Amino acid sequence: MQNVIPNLLTWYKNVHRKLPWRETSNPYYIWVSEVILQQTRVEQGREYYVKFVDKFPDVFSLARADVSEILKIWQGLGYYARARNMHFAAKQMVDLHQGNFPNDYFSIKNLRGIGDYTAAAIASFAFKQHYPAIDGNVKRVTARFYGVDLPISTPAFYKLVEKELFLAIKTTEPDIFNQAMIELGAMVCTPVNPKCEICPIQSECFAFKFDKTLELPNNPPKKKPIRKYLHFFYIEVEGHLVLQQRPSEGIWGGLNEFPCIESLGVDEIPENMMEYLGLENGSFEIVDNFEFKHLLTHQTIFAKLWHLKVNSNNNLTLKNWNLIKINDIRTFPLHKLMVKILDKLHL
Ligand code: SF4
Repeated sequence: MQNVIPNLLTWYKNVHRKLPWRETSNPYYIWVSEVILQQTRVEQGREYYVKFVDKFPDVFSLARADVSEILKIWQGLGYYARARNMHFAAKQMVDLHQGNFPNDYFSIKNLRGIGDYTAAAIASFAFKQHYPAIDGNVKRVTARFYGVDLPISTPAFYKLVEKELFLAIKTTEPDIFNQAMIELGAMVCTPVNPKCEICPIQSECFAFKFDKTLELPNNPPKKKPIRKYLHFFYIEVEGHLVLQQRPSEGIWGGLNEFPCIESLGVDEIPENMMEYLGLENGSFEIVDNFEFKHLLTHQTIFAKLWHLKVNSNNNLTLKNWNLIKINDIRTFPLHKLMVKILDKLHL
C-alpha cells in the first residue's frame, strides 16, 4: 500500500467532511464521538455529540454525573451498556489518572468499554501513535484492496488485515491515515456500487484489478433475528402511572418502561397478567390496546400495549415500580419502543 498512501492522504486532506470531532485533538471529545458513531450515522451522531459534550464537557463532569442523566442524553441511540461503560471509564480516569485521558494505547484500552478500534482511534487521532483503527469501513476497504477473502467476522480475517495495516501505518501520519481509510470506506469504497473511478488507491487495488468488488469482502449471510413477544401495561391510577426501571444488565439496561411481561404471542391477554400486576376482577378496566413492531439488531419485538384504568392502587402489586405523575414521564430515560408507545398514547 505504501505507493498509494500519498494519494490517499492528499485525497483526504482535500475532500473530507468537516466534523466537530475531527477539528480537535482532545482525547475526551474523540472518545465521545467514537462511541456515539458506533451507534448511529454521522448526521444524527453530530446532534448527540453536541448534546453530550455540552452537558458533560470533560472527564470530571461525566464521572460526577448520575447515570440516569447520561442515559437521558443517550436516549434513542441504543446499546445503553456503552453509556454506562463511559460513566465507569470516566470514574476510572479520575481514580487512576487524575482525571486525565491516558496517553498510550494499552492504558486507553484498559478503560471499561474501550476495545481495539476505539483505543487505536484515540491513540492515533489524539496522540499520533501508530495503531490502525479497524472499523467496518476499514475492513471493507482493506479486504478489497489486498484481496482478503476470509469471512469478515473471523479472527483470521482480523489478524491478516491488522498485519497489513500495521505495515502501512508505520510509514505515515497515523491520524490522517486512519481518518482517510475510514472516510474512504464511508464515501467511496461503499458496500454497494463503490466509486472506484474516483478512488485514490485504485491503481493498486486487487478488487478493482480483478473485478471482485461484488465478491469482497466475504460477508456470510446474517442469522435471522429472534422474535420476541412483549406485553406492556399502561396503568393509570388517579392521575399517576406505573413505571419500572429495567435491570442494568441486558437489553435497554437501566432504562424505564411500563411494567412488562413476555409471552409466546401477542394476540391474547397473557394468562398471568392479573397475578403479575396483583389485580383482581373488577378492580380495573381495559381502556384500549395497541400493537407495535420494533426492530433491534438481533431481535424483532412484537409488543402489545394494554391501557388499564385501576380504581385505586390498593390492589396493585407495586413491586419495585414507581408511581409517577403522568406529565413527568418524558423526564425519565426511556427506550425507543417506550417512546413509540408514548407517542401513540399522546403522552
Ligand atoms: S478501487 Fe474500488 S474497490 Fe478498490 S479500494 Fe477503491 S473504491 Fe474500493
